[in-house]
Amino acid sequence: MPPLLEIKGLKTHFATDDGMLQAVDGVDLTLNKGETLCVVGESGCGKTVTAMSILKLIAMPPGRIVQGEILFEGRDLVPLTSSQLDDIRAKEIGFIFQEPMTSLNPVLTVGEQVAESLRRHEGLSNKDALDRTVEMFKLVQIPNAAGRLHDYPHQFSGGMRQRVMIAMALACKPKLVIADEPTTALDVTIQAQILDLLQDMKERFGMAVMLITHAMGVVAETAQRVVVMYAGKVVEEADVDSLFASPGHPYTQGLIRSIPRIDLASEHKTRLEAIGGTVPILINPAPGCRFAPRCRHAMQICSEQEPVLREIAPGHRMACHLGAAP
Ligand code: SF4
Repeated sequence: MPPLLEIKGLKTHFATDDGMLQAVDGVDLTLNKGETLCVVGESGCGKTVTAMSILKLIAMPPGRIVQGEILFEGRDLVPLTSSQLDDIRAKEIGFIFQEPMTSLNPVLTVGEQVAESLRRHEGLSNKDALDRTVEMFKLVQIPNAAGRLHDYPHQFSGGMRQRVMIAMALACKPKLVIADEPTTALDVTIQAQILDLLQDMKERFGMAVMLITHAMGVVAETAQRVVVMYAGKVVEEADVDSLFASPGHPYTQGLIRSIPRIDLASEHKTRLEAIGGTVPILINPAPGCRFAPRCRHAMQICSEQEPVLREIAPGHRMACHLGAAP
């Protein structure tokens, strides 16, 4: 079966006063129908820009997709105009943003915002759109769903606003939902509820989910497949069990070592390990592996040749010179 989404050689760059910032630099990834793919990495590794590039949600200019294809059901989204993409946004691909307060319109009621999407994309009458909105609010467990239609975003708590965002993203039953750090701004207990809700909705509607996160704990709980990004590139890709059982790339190993372990007896607990250093500035990056300055396994070749993604086990790929044939 062909993938639902296939990104090939995507490069998204940003013009800055200091030069061209290569935020996403040759990313390939695929997402199958009904699958949950987690894209993980630190802040500044390019995961959000990759996600936003899919629906051209990045500011252009200064951002620009300079190369690559984004095939959704075989159709390349890159050359589409804004109005052509409007037909795909919400109806085919829903997007859940990190901070709903900045993505919901503060001067429109939440009911009006969800209903507008239904009127526009599904051609529903005003009454039918509002009825469906109430249904969606019930599905995402907003108490007193009908009574909250006429409330404004600021009248909701952070967790409830994120439920409104999820209702809005799923109202037209898209085939793919992209969730960009949907729980970052929430308390820990609410985070778990929102992730459970996303999982429930995915199963109910049979949609695929691309979840952007920096938290390996979230990856372990939700992903079927994982793409690890570093400094604008994919450095490892595998199904979730293989990734946690045998992470190949030193960066992935570092991310996994930084997960708190509450399952270990106290005598086996050790200090959490941080990955030393920071993500490099991506203006004129140095040749070779971009992780080299932080890598405890770096070799001479690492600063000379860029490692390419290669298969190290069935369905498991990594970009690292470790273990590569000379
Ligand atoms: Fe480390 Fe070299 Fe692998 Fe980069 S290519 S992750 S520097 S061993």
